Amino acid sequence: MRNALGALGLLVASVATACVVTAVWFWTSSPRLEVAVPATISAPPPERLPATAAATSAAARDDVEVTAALSEKPPVPPQPKTACANPDALGVSRVVEVDTTGGPGFGFEHFKQLDFLTDKEVVLTFDDGPWPVNTPSVLKTLADECTKAVFFPIGKHATYHPEILRQVAAAGHTVGAHTWSHANLNGKNFTEQQARDEIEKGFSAVKLALGAAPAPFFRFPQLQHRPDAMTYLGSRDVAIFSCDVDSFDFKAKDATQVINSVLTKLEKSGKGIILMHDFQKHTAEALPALLRRLKAGGYKVVQMKAKAPLQTLAEYDEALVKEIKLPVASTRPVGSVVQTVSQ
Ligand SMILES: [Zn+2]
Repeated sequence: MRNALGALGLLVASVATACVVTAVWFWTSSPRLEVAVPATISAPPPERLPATAAATSAAARDDVEVTAALSEKPPVPPQPKTACANPDALGVSRVVEVDTTGGPGFGFEHFKQLDFLTDKEVVLTFDDGPWPVNTPSVLKTLADECTKAVFFPIGKHATYHPEILRQVAAAGHTVGAHTWSHANLNGKNFTEQQARDEIEKGFSAVKLALGAAPAPFFRFPQLQHRPDAMTYLGSRDVAIFSCDVDSFDFKAKDATQVINSVLTKLEKSGKGIILMHDFQKHTAEALPALLRRLKAGGYKVVQMKAKAPLQTLAEYDEALVKEIKLPVASTRPVGSVVQTVSQ
C-alpha cells in the first residue's frame, strides 16, 4: 500500500512537473507575449537610422540628393535638381529617411535614443497649420532659401484650408499630423479611445486634404506624451516627434523674440529639431531673418522623410468624409432639393 501510494505520488509529481515545463515553454514561446511587451514603442538602435536612411526610396529623390551617410548600398545616381535661384541659400544639406517601424521617438526633450544629427545640423518643424497668410508666408521663405521642413498640421485646419496644405506637400515638405482638434491627450477625463480617435482622425483629415497619405510622423499637442497613446502609435508604426529646441514662438511678442529664442537655445544644444508654428504670425515674420542667421551661423538643414506613408484606417477616412459632407448638403437651396413634379 505504501509502495502504491509512493508510486501515485511520483506520478502526480511528474505530471505537475510536466505542466510547469509546458507552461513555461508556452509563455516564453508564445507570440502573444511579445505583443504584450511595451517594447513595441522602443526605438531602433541609433545605428539603424543611417542604414535605413539608405538612398533607395523614390520618395526621397524629388529635388535634393539623399546624402544619408554610412549606407553600404551604392550611391544614388545624380537626380535632376530643382534649380535654386538663390546662390547663398540655406538649402538642405542632407535628407534622411526614417523607418518608422515600432514608433521611434525623436527630439532630445523626451527621446534620447536616436542621436542622428551631427554638430550644427538642424531640422525645421512647423505645427498647427495650415493657416491663411502665415503658412503661405512660411512656404515662401522656405522656397526662397531652397530648404525643406516637416509640418505637423491640425486635422481640423487641414479640412478648413486643404488647398494650403496641398501647397505644403507640393513644395516637397514632409507632412505628418498633430491630432484632429489639438486636444491635450493627457487631459483630465480624456480616455484612451478618445486619444486614439484624435490621432487617427487627424491623420485621416490630412490624407483627405492632400489626396495622399501623410508621413507616419506625429507630434503630441503641447508635447503631452500620453503613455498608452505612445504604445498605440508604436503599434501603428508612427514616429513620435518631440523637439530639441522649443521656440515658444506662440508666446513671443514679436519676430525678434522668436529669432532670439531659437538662436539662444540652439547655441546651447548645438544642433537639433526646432519646433515652431506656421500658424503664428510672428514666426512667419521672423523666418526670413532667422534662416539668414542660421546660414550665417554655419547651421545646416536636414530634411526628415518617411520610408513609407501611413496606412490610415478606413473607418476614420469614411467617417470623416461623411462628417465633412454633411454641412455641405444642408446648405443646398431648398429648390434644388425638393421640386414639385405634379400637383
Ligand atoms: Zn500644436
